[in-house]
Amino acid sequence: MALSETSLIERYFRGGGAQRADVTLGIGDDAAILAVPPGHELVACTDTLVTGVHFPHDSPAASIGHRALAVNLSDMAAMGARPAWALLALTLPQADEAWLAEFAAGFAALAREHRVALVGGDTTRGPLCISVQVLGLVPQGTALRRGGAQAGDVLCVSGTPGDAAAGLALEQRRLEAPAAARDYLRERFLLPTPRVALGERLRDFASACIDVSDGLLGDAGKLAQASGLACELEFEQLPLSDALRATLGMDDARRLALSGGDDYELCFAVPASRFAQLQAQLPAQRWGYARIGVLVPGGGARVTCRGSVMEFSHSGYQHFR
Ligand code: ADP
Ligand code: MG
Repeated sequence: MALSETSLIERYFRGGGAQRADVTLGIGDDAAILAVPPGHELVACTDTLVTGVHFPHDSPAASIGHRALAVNLSDMAAMGARPAWALLALTLPQADEAWLAEFAAGFAALAREHRVALVGGDTTRGPLCISVQVLGLVPQGTALRRGGAQAGDVLCVSGTPGDAAAGLALEQRRLEAPAAARDYLRERFLLPTPRVALGERLRDFASACIDVSDGLLGDAGKLAQASGLACELEFEQLPLSDALRATLGMDDARRLALSGGDDYELCFAVPASRFAQLQAQLPAQRWGYARIGVLVPGGGARVTCRGSVMEFSHSGYQHFR
């Protein structure tokens, strides 16, 4: 590369996140040294974005930087963890400085918003691929898991699922949308909002939690399966954005809310006896979540509409073609 690996790291990544007192040793040595506060557990995750697979080849660099971190922060949120530190393994075809500056800015802005320090990484040459690890903290024994829901628990989702899948389809020109909806939907794909604050607060209420990355119905099904249960989603309770409804119409918007990927919302179960307290302490309007169904004995994930079970195929976005 024209730019040496060392100067690339110095220029674009050192200090490119929050400054934290618990970083004993950050970028520059063979590994980072991080101080875990007493009484806490370390929660660790990693996620990789490959060009052409997880984002279009022509995605804006700032969006790629944002998403590479956001998908990991979303995993932290699903565990109820507070993210603290990140590592960034970057594989680049060439050291394009304009691209790197934008990528690093997108990553750093989200990192600072969540007080996450970038403490290390790796830089290699090859087809564009970004792998991020995030380490976070929870008070001992309090992390949320996918398993743990009980039959009768209420199932909820944050945000308005389906928006990101429509945004990606718009990016790829597989979908048309009214002008007023277009920018909003594209941004839901390009700059997803990991629900970190909600995840942390849910430690006091949720019996199980998962982040929605592969489609709400499938991911709700994974939560149910991990809890040894089935889930039943009520079609007419699925929350929709005005933009998605205006673009697809009510029915197709709800189908996409069930099947579309890249939402990075939280799907969580709450004991029915705790639901009123959840609503009192975390008002649904302000925290942006909605009740969508219930956990029941058995297996699988069903969608019901006015009492009858819907036939739902997973090919939700075929109607874009
Ligand atoms: P090594 O040869 O020991 O792997 P490197 O030269 O790859 O060391 O990295 C030097 C330092 O820079 C290390 O602290 C490493 O964590 C950090 N680093 C390398 N690439 C990145 C990157 N893309 N983002 C953040 N830190 C990085
Ligand atoms: Mg290295």
